[in-house]
Amino acid sequence: MKDILTSSFIKEVSKTIDQMYRLGWDERNGGNLSYILSEEEVRDYLNVNKYNRVIDLYIDASFLSGKIFLVTGSGKYFKNVKENPESNLGIIQINPDGKTANLLWGLIDGAKPTSELSTHLLSHIERLKIDPLHKVVIHTHATNLIAMTFIHSLDEKAYTKTLWKMNTECIIVFPDGIGVIPWMICGNEEIGRETAKKFQESRLIIWAMHGVLGVGQSLDEAFGLIETAEKAAEIFFKISNFPNRKEITDEQLEALSFAFAVKPKSNYLE
Ligand SMILES: [Zn+2]
Repeated sequence: MKDILTSSFIKEVSKTIDQMYRLGWDERNGGNLSYILSEEEVRDYLNVNKYNRVIDLYIDASFLSGKIFLVTGSGKYFKNVKENPESNLGIIQINPDGKTANLLWGLIDGAKPTSELSTHLLSHIERLKIDPLHKVVIHTHATNLIAMTFIHSLDEKAYTKTLWKMNTECIIVFPDGIGVIPWMICGNEEIGRETAKKFQESRLIIWAMHGVLGVGQSLDEAFGLIETAEKAAEIFFKISNFPNRKEITDEQLEALSFAFAVKPKSNYLE
């Protein structure tokens, strides 16, 4: 067996997590991430028939049975992942009953997967139904996107259009818009179900006064969605106190969608 710390998936996930920490998005134990691994990817590094312990999932994840996930640990700090992946990350495989998973690697000293595991698994289920190549769910506390939820309408159309109008790239990167979930208690199945439902339509979800979630076929795609929206939210704050602001018009958004062959969420443009 090869040393798993040399695998591209541990290196890439650790790098992405470190970047988010350095962007100031993941204070303390803020943020969590899950990444689907194929048996082929892990074959050289792990024996999937050997596991360290069984983990309760507290939801029915039978849709995902057999699937292998790299997940961040509960209460773990993003700032420590790169230095010590084995303490802060874990690899689990969902059992056929869908109620438990085998811990194949990591989460040493009895650590548990992220408290948002139900949100991650339920979101993976919905995204896999839409996109068989889907792999990644990222949750992070992107500063400007959170700040915006305190002062902006939480209407999804209004929120999405404000961001689309902050930078020409936005409608091209997330034509499917942003789902918004009003403030809720986190870390349970209820917020997981609400989030997963929104992922049927959009790849970016805001948890008001808390954070953002992005999904994708790769770490770059999920991270790229979040950083594009976060940058737009930053521009929103940079310009909002100036009089006589210009804007990207609906007509221009329409022209952009045509030029880049993207389909904006229906009825969002006037
Ligand atoms: Zn959070």
